[in-house]
Amino acid sequence: MEERYNPADVEPKWQAYWKDRGLFKVTENPSKEKYYLLEMFPYPSGKIHIGHVRNYTIGDVVVRYKRMQGYNVLHPMGWDAFGMPAENAAIDNNTHPAAWTYENIRSMRAQLKKMGFSYDWDREIATCRPEYYKWEQWLFLKMLENGMAYRRESFVNWCEKCQTVLANEQVEQDKCWRCSQPVKQKKLWQWFFRITDFAEDLLVHCDRLPGWPEKVTVMQKNWIGKSVGSELRFQVAGMEEEIEVFTTRPDTVFGATFMCLAPEHPLVETLCRGTDQEQSVAAFVEKVAAQERSLEGLEKYEKEGVFTGRYCINPATGEEIPVYTANFVLMGYGTGAIMSVPCGDQRDFDFARKYNLEIRVVVQPEGETLDPDTMETAYTGPGIMVNSGRFDGMDNDTAIEAITDWLAEQGRGKKAVSFRLRDWGISRQRYWGAPIPVIHCPDCGVVPVPETELPITLPEDANIMEKGGSPLPFLDDFKQAVCPACGREDARRDTDTMDTFVESSWYYLRYCSPRYDQGMFDPAAVKYWAPVDQYIGGVEHAVLHLLYSRYFMRVLHHFNMIDFKEPFTRLLTQGMVCKETMTCPEHGYLFPEQAKKTGDDTYVCTRCGKDVEVGRVIKMSKSKKNVVDPNELMETYGADVTRLFCLFAAPPERDLEWSEDGVEGSNRFVNRVWRLALACMDTIDTRQVTRFTGPAGDLKNPDAKALYIKTHQTIQKVTADIEESFHFNTAIAAVMELVNALYTIDLDMADAETKSVVLAAMDSMVLLLSPIIPHFCEEVFEKTGGQGSVLEQPWPKHRNDSLETDEALVVVQVNGKLRSRFSVAADTGDDVIKQMALADEKIVRHIQDQPVKKIILINKKQILVNIVV
Ligand SMILES: [Zn+2]
Ligand SMILES: [Zn+2]
Ligand SMILES: [Zn+2]
Repeated sequence: MEERYNPADVEPKWQAYWKDRGLFKVTENPSKEKYYLLEMFPYPSGKIHIGHVRNYTIGDVVVRYKRMQGYNVLHPMGWDAFGMPAENAAIDNNTHPAAWTYENIRSMRAQLKKMGFSYDWDREIATCRPEYYKWEQWLFLKMLENGMAYRRESFVNWCEKCQTVLANEQVEQDKCWRCSQPVKQKKLWQWFFRITDFAEDLLVHCDRLPGWPEKVTVMQKNWIGKSVGSELRFQVAGMEEEIEVFTTRPDTVFGATFMCLAPEHPLVETLCRGTDQEQSVAAFVEKVAAQERSLEGLEKYEKEGVFTGRYCINPATGEEIPVYTANFVLMGYGTGAIMSVPCGDQRDFDFARKYNLEIRVVVQPEGETLDPDTMETAYTGPGIMVNSGRFDGMDNDTAIEAITDWLAEQGRGKKAVSFRLRDWGISRQRYWGAPIPVIHCPDCGVVPVPETELPITLPEDANIMEKGGSPLPFLDDFKQAVCPACGREDARRDTDTMDTFVESSWYYLRYCSPRYDQGMFDPAAVKYWAPVDQYIGGVEHAVLHLLYSRYFMRVLHHFNMIDFKEPFTRLLTQGMVCKETMTCPEHGYLFPEQAKKTGDDTYVCTRCGKDVEVGRVIKMSKSKKNVVDPNELMETYGADVTRLFCLFAAPPERDLEWSEDGVEGSNRFVNRVWRLALACMDTIDTRQVTRFTGPAGDLKNPDAKALYIKTHQTIQKVTADIEESFHFNTAIAAVMELVNALYTIDLDMADAETKSVVLAAMDSMVLLLSPIIPHFCEEVFEKTGGQGSVLEQPWPKHRNDSLETDEALVVVQVNGKLRSRFSVAADTGDDVIKQMALADEKIVRHIQDQPVKKIILINKKQILVNIVV
C-alpha cells in the first residue's frame, strides 16, 4: 500500500470492478423494497460543470446509502438531447446538430463515469433518438384524438429580415439576436396541450406534496394563479357581439367608465371595421406587435391606447362606455379584456387622466368623500359604496357578492374562477426536435399520421440554415406526404417540432423499461418503480419542468396507463456553486488561472501584472469566468476528493462557496484516513483479529470503551443526518471526530481488546464514508481484510446499549483558557468535581498562590469548570 492515497490507480480499478460485477444493474424484484432516485438529466452541452458534479454527487450518496440498507435502487442517467443550443452550435462551428449532440454525449458520459457515479448505464436514453420520441408522438396522437391537444392561431416572435421565428431567448431587447432588426409578433397556427383542464387538480395537489420544498409548491401555485371573482358580459352597442371580462372586483362595476381590449383581442378588428378609427387602430396594433408582450415586458413601455370607434353597455348602469384597445392588456391574462374602473385602479386612473375619460367614484373610505376632479390617485382600499344605485351605503366586501348575484339574475354575469395558467403551446418552428405527427391535406385539413407509421423520423442529415431557421419546411422529402384519409398526394407534413419540455415531462417513466418497444413503457416495470421517490435538481426548473411533468402524469392517469398522478414524491432543489469574480482593469473578467496570488487576498493579472479586483461571490458562470473545471479537479485530486468537497462545504439545499482551501482540506482528510489504515495494517493482523460487536459494558479497557461508544454515536449521527435531511456535511464532520478518536489510540501499545475495537471502528468508518468517497473506501476495505464490495455490506447499525458512557469528561478552564481535562464517574457530585479540579496537578501549576475568586461549573454534554483568579 502506497504512503499516499493515489486516486489515479485506485479509482479506475474500482470503476472497472463495479462494471465487471454489474453492481449498478437493477431489475424489478418484488421481494425487495424499491427506491427510485433521479437527478434531472443534463442537456448535452459538451462539458460536465461543477453544478452537475454537485447535483449527481448528492444523488449518488443517497443511492449507495439506500442500497446498503437493502433497497432495490433504480438510478439511471440520460440526455435531454433536443433543443436550440445544438442548432446554434451547428451554425457557429459549421457542424450538424446531431453530430454535435452525439459527440457531446460521448464526452460527458466519459466524464460521469470517471466520477464513479452508480448509474445503471444499460438504461441510458437520449431523447433525440427515434425510439424515444416515437412514443411521445404516439401520446400526441392519443391526446389529439381525445381533445387534449388542439390547434389555434397564436403569436410568435418573427424576424422579417431572417424570415424566421425566434425563441424568446433569441430576442434581445426587442431585436433579433443575429441581425439586430426589430422583432415583430406574427400570428401562426400552433399546437397546444390543454393543461388548463387540470389547473384545479394541479393546484389542489400542491398542498399534498409534503416531500417538496415549500418555496417550490408556492411557485407552482403562483404560476397556476387561481383567482375567484366574477365573469361579466358587456354588450357592444349596436352589434351582436359581447365582451366578456373577468374581475375580482365586481363591486366596482358601476365605476367602469371605459373598456380596454388587448390589441390581439379577436374583437378589435371587428369593432373598428367601418368606423373612422379603423386606420388608427390598425396602426396601433401594428406598433404594439413590435413590443414585448409579457408581464415583465409591459413595464418597459408607456401605457397607451386607441379608441376603437365603438361603445359597449355597462351591465350595471346601462350606460354606453367607450371601448379602447390598450397595450397594457395582455391576451394571455384573463379574457384579454378589462373593465376599466379609474377610481379604483391606478393604471386605469392614469389612462383616464391621459385620455380625458370619466372618473366616477364608487367606493370611498368610511366617513370620507372622494372628489374625482381633485383625486390624485385611485383608491384601492375597502370602503362604502356610492354612485351604485341600490348598493349605495353597503360595505364593498358585501357588495362583491350582492352585485354578482344581481347581475346573474339578469343573465349578465356569474361567479367564476380564473387561472393565470394558459394552455401549453408546444409548437416550435425549429429543426432539432421531435416532429409533430400530423399531415395537412387541402381537402381533409389536419389528419393524424396513422400509428403504424410512427415514428415520424427527423432527418438527421439536414443542413441548418445559416440564419438559424428550420430547414424542415424546405426539405421536400420530409414535407411531401400522402393524405392518410383521402390519398391525395400533395398533402404536407407538419414541419413544426415539439417543445423540448415535452421530452422531459415523461423521461423518468421511460427509464423503467428503456428498450420497451410496445409502448411508452412496460406497465409492469412502471408499476414496480414509479413514482420517483427522490428527485434532485436545480430550482430554476421549479415551475415549468415540474408542472409539465405533473400534467403529463395526469394525462397518462386519465388514460389509465398509470395509477398515480404525482411523478416525484420527494424533491430536493440543490443550491448553486458560487465563486468570487476576478477583474483586471485591462483584461476584464479573468479565469482563476489568469490571476496569480500575491498575498492573502491579493492577486495580479498573469498577462499584464496589474492588480486584480476581487469581486463578490456569485454563481459560477462562463461569462463571468469565475468557474472551475471539474476535469482539472479530477486530474489533481481525483473523484473522491471532489465529491467529498462538494458534500462537506455546505448542506445540499444551500449555495456552495468554492474554495481551494476547502478542496485541500478534503484532500488532507482523505490522506489522514489513509495513514490510519496503513497504521492498522502495520500493527494489527486485520484478517485474524475479530471485530468487537458486543455491548460497551463488556469492555474493560476504558480507552477501548470510549472509542467503541464514539463509534456507535457516529453511526447513529451519520445515519440520522443522511436519512432525515441529506445533511452530509454534518455527517462527514461526525466521521472526522471518529477519525480523531482513532488517532488518540496508541496502536503499538494497544491490548487485544482495544485492537478488536479499533478494527470495529475502522470498519464502521469505512462503511459510513463509502457512499461519499466510494473508491477510497473500497480500497481501504479490501486492504483491511474486507471481502467483496463495500456496496454489498449492510449499512452499520448502532447499538442502543453502547451510545452513552457512564463516565463524564471534565474540562477545566482558568480565566476562560483550557488548562486541563479528566474523567469522573457520571454520578459524581458538583462539589466533588470542583475539589478535584482545584486539586488537579496542571491547575495547581496555573493558579499557584493566587486566590480563587469564583468557580463555575457548567454541566452540559461534558462538564466545564471555569476557575476565575
Ligand atoms: Zn434577424
Ligand atoms: Zn385528404
Ligand atoms: Zn490584465
